[in-house]
Amino acid sequence: MRGQDDLLHRGIGMTSQRTRERLIQRLYEEGICNHQVLEVIRKTPRHLFVDEALAHRAYEDTALPIGNNQTISQPYMVARMSELLLAAGPLDKVLEIGTGSGYQTAVLAQLVERVFSVERIKGLQDRAKERMQSLNLRNVVFRWGDGWEGWPALAPYNGIIVTAVAADVPQALLEQLAPGGRMVIPVGAGDVQQLMLIIREETGYARHLLGAVRFVPLLTGPLA
Ligand code: SAH
Repeated sequence: MRGQDDLLHRGIGMTSQRTRERLIQRLYEEGICNHQVLEVIRKTPRHLFVDEALAHRAYEDTALPIGNNQTISQPYMVARMSELLLAAGPLDKVLEIGTGSGYQTAVLAQLVERVFSVERIKGLQDRAKERMQSLNLRNVVFRWGDGWEGWPALAPYNGIIVTAVAADVPQALLEQLAPGGRMVIPVGAGDVQQLMLIIREETGYARHLLGAVRFVPLLTGPLA
């Protein structure tokens, strides 16, 4: 496996430098202005988070299939959600719901102190774990479970990011957000989805709608 990964690195390395730069330029032009976020995306090898057959498309600004009917998030969305999370300053504990390929996880791991990532599909989680190891990102812990419950044992979190959409914000996640903490979550159903930023204040939650988005649904229960 390792040998194969090395080959993949090398094979794509020469051709991808320019396409990677183009992606960063595009994200910047689309309004991503946090340089730390752009820099982390520049150096995170997204081609390792998709199937070999799709590796040549890894630096396009598009979601791609990762199996189990799921997709790796679009780089713009990863950048935007990361930027929104970090907008009020550095974060030490971030809860992520929907590990998927682990791409958003890997980006976050380079921007915050610790990431706690929950995924309901065991196979996806196992592959994400391997990728984190091969990239030597050691500040991530994984939980196989239902994101509707969050990860109560380790709460509260200064940041929560949800990468699958539901009609309502899960109550458990609201409860597990620290005072002053920020949650970025898509809400809605089908074609009508909005990105929402929720900030926990002393007496309640401030909610901001940030435009139309497109995510796969937040389902229930773990899946082996
Ligand atoms: N950020 C991921 C996106 C993956 S798609 C990436 O870039 O690869 C959304 C993910 O949320 C899927 O892996 C899906 O299995 C997971 N998911 C959906 N419902 C869930 C739930 N209730 N709990 C945990 N994970 C869930």
